[in-house]
Amino acid sequence: MPPLTFAQLGVPDAICDALTARGITAPFEIQAATLTDALAGRDVLGRAPTGSGKTLAFGIPLIAGADRAQPKRPTALVLAPTRELADQISTELRSIAGDVRVAAVYGGVGYGPQLKALRRGVDILVACPGRLEDLLAQGEVALNEVRRVVLDEADRMADMGFIPAVRRLLDLTNPARQTVLFSATLDGDVAKLTRDYQVDPVRHEVGEETPDITLASHVFWRVERADRSQVTAEAVNAVWPAIVFCRTRHGSDRVAKQLGRAGIKAAAIHGGRSQGQRTRALADFAKGRVHALVATDVAARGIHVDGVASVIHFDPPEDHKTYVHRSGRTARAGEGGVVVSLVQAEQVKDVRRTQRKVGLDEPVADPDAGALRDLSPAPVRVLEATPHDDEVAAADAPDQGRRQGSGNRRRRSSGSSQRSQSGDAQGRNGNRNAGSSKRSGGQAKSKRRSGSSQKRNGTGAKAGNTKRSGQRAAQGADGGSRSSKSSSGRASSNAAGGGGGGPSKNRTNRKARRAHLQPGARQR
Ligand code: ADP
Ligand code: MG
Repeated sequence: MPPLTFAQLGVPDAICDALTARGITAPFEIQAATLTDALAGRDVLGRAPTGSGKTLAFGIPLIAGADRAQPKRPTALVLAPTRELADQISTELRSIAGDVRVAAVYGGVGYGPQLKALRRGVDILVACPGRLEDLLAQGEVALNEVRRVVLDEADRMADMGFIPAVRRLLDLTNPARQTVLFSATLDGDVAKLTRDYQVDPVRHEVGEETPDITLASHVFWRVERADRSQVTAEAVNAVWPAIVFCRTRHGSDRVAKQLGRAGIKAAAIHGGRSQGQRTRALADFAKGRVHALVATDVAARGIHVDGVASVIHFDPPEDHKTYVHRSGRTARAGEGGVVVSLVQAEQVKDVRRTQRKVGLDEPVADPDAGALRDLSPAPVRVLEATPHDDEVAAADAPDQGRRQGSGNRRRRSSGSSQRSQSGDAQGRNGNRNAGSSKRSGGQAKSKRRSGSSQKRNGTGAKAGNTKRSGQRAAQGADGGSRSSKSSSGRASSNAAGGGGGGPSKNRTNRKARRAHLQPGARQR
């Protein structure tokens, strides 16, 4: 089937003409996948890599459906993390906007022109959260007429500490709004935003997700071939839940058995096991009843479990990309994690090559499970050093204070690969308690907030539902079949039964981990 044209996807002629004038004639994948639904008013949740054309994917429906705004009362809102991005978005929107009025507001520049534009009337407002909150406080803008919201680069907004501001802003918009969210990752904070602020979103994911492995601590252990299982058992015992990667099905089965003999509850998942067996293993793992999942690379593709504390490369990855994908199973969404590579003497050279390619240069050292435990709970996410700290600072002062005030974060963002192992362990360990108590403070806060936001959204959300389901019905089965493409590979957690005993010496850690493993229970 040939790809559909913009017109066939439902894009109005005027916009098609404007696109053609810019030399844009065929939709990119994410556009082809989401335009029809977004034009019909459905919520959209999209993940696609940089440069894949997300701006037009959300921009075309915004322009096509734009409502004329009263002064200071925009009808559509795009939230973006940085002023560059806000500028890019507004420029791109203007290129197809016709007489729809688009303006951007962000920090680090004077208020004059932004106020002037708002007073004249802006239909689509592109904003960074900090400046928008300032303008709201000054009474220069109101959001109650906003019926279309786009959150662009939601993962970066989360990284930069904007989520509380984003939630406050969303709470001020019309509850019957359409909410479109684009992000490079859809887990953690972004998953929570979706849950709290989108209604039955159509989910589209393009391309493979490249995890950010700098959020984990990486260690490389020199081992004899024959000692690998024992060393793996010690590592799992120190830091679990763990995913252990093996090259072959047979190897996975064998390692799972050997771990079992060492007192670790382990389950193998690979292509040789039935779907039922795999599902059960995943559910047990997600519930904390299994401490280690021993997986081949192929089987691991379907694993989407948050709260994995460690990844162990039992067999070396085939190449650096595999290293990244395997390692990305831990330290997702702001959780800490450790990555252990077992390195035999003849593999050192390959390991060095992999390290160079992924930007690591940790030494190959003797196994040290104790140090691993210290490395494990790293509660922070890198705060990007952007040239626009003004915008960051304006967004949410208390939250930013919390983030930037942590020496721990500073240390981490200064590049994990340069640290010596022991120095790192000390630093993280020393900061651990402070970090985690901060986190629980944040948890309580965000719980309160989402509770109140739900309440506030209560009646309105219903109205939104009705309106949207009306649209959906008009749309017919098309929307439904389209959404069937969407997938949530998250491990189901409805298996019944009591908890199993964990490896010894790790009780508190285990409890904490298990709490983190409950889908939805994890904060941050
Ligand atoms: P993303 O937000 O996904 O990183 P952008 O929306 O910024 O990507 O798009 C990247 C570039 O591709 C922009 O210059 C944009 O104008 C261009 N572009 C978008 N869609 C198309 C298309 N269908 N055909 C050709 N160029 C496109
Ligand atoms: Mg973009």
